[in-house]
Amino acid sequence: MKQEVIAVAIDGPAGAGKSTIARAAAAQLGFVYVDTGALYRTIGLAVCRRGIDGTDTAGIVHTLPEIRVDLTYCDGAQHVLLDGEDVSDAIRTPEISVYASQVSVVPEVRAYLLDLQRDMARTQSVIMDGRDIGTVILPDARVKIFLTASPEKRAVRRCAELREKGQQVTLDEVLADMTRRDSQDEGRAVAPLKQAADAVRVDTSDLTLDESIEAVLRVIRASMKGE
Ligand code: C5P
Repeated sequence: MKQEVIAVAIDGPAGAGKSTIARAAAAQLGFVYVDTGALYRTIGLAVCRRGIDGTDTAGIVHTLPEIRVDLTYCDGAQHVLLDGEDVSDAIRTPEISVYASQVSVVPEVRAYLLDLQRDMARTQSVIMDGRDIGTVILPDARVKIFLTASPEKRAVRRCAELREKGQQVTLDEVLADMTRRDSQDEGRAVAPLKQAADAVRVDTSDLTLDESIEAVLRVIRASMKGE
């Protein structure tokens, strides 16, 4: 019997815990986890490496046909490739966060990544996280979740995450970067960050990580049962 393919869309602002929670939920359900932020970060990295300014739209558009972005999986972990090079670690710096946010405003960049994202969900069950998954990429997703938390809580978590990776950042810097990215993501003309009308909102401000994962799994399981 052919197994049904299920798509779960998780959107929300930076630092809401989307990737950690989505990855854990996908592992529990046996779904593939797709982190779409990594794709924008990879284009941001390509632009940065070429010395192009993140606000130079023409330069960014010019770069697209020259690069290749691929997703691969190794022991269940997503890796992103830029022209065949595994850049999964190189894209996780505050500098590339800013580039990612800047390139994501460009409609040609969003169009360039559209099919890659949709293809991932065509033949396998996925939990895909991002900013416009429930609204634009997978509007027919079976389950849509908008994951959020207060800006302060999100900044504290992101700060701890970056410090754990050995990056020297202050809470103020992280909060400022996050606020800038939020307003850029919410304010852009194409595919802005917003809750889909049919998404369930999960606020993790006062939840532990385990409680957040449970809350997300509850929503997914209830939708899968048709509740
Ligand atoms: O999720 P992450 O913080 O890694 O994403 C990096 C940036 O990529 C975000 O700030 C956002 O500007 C952009 N992005 C997007 N649409 C997505 C995922 C990420 O615009 N689906």
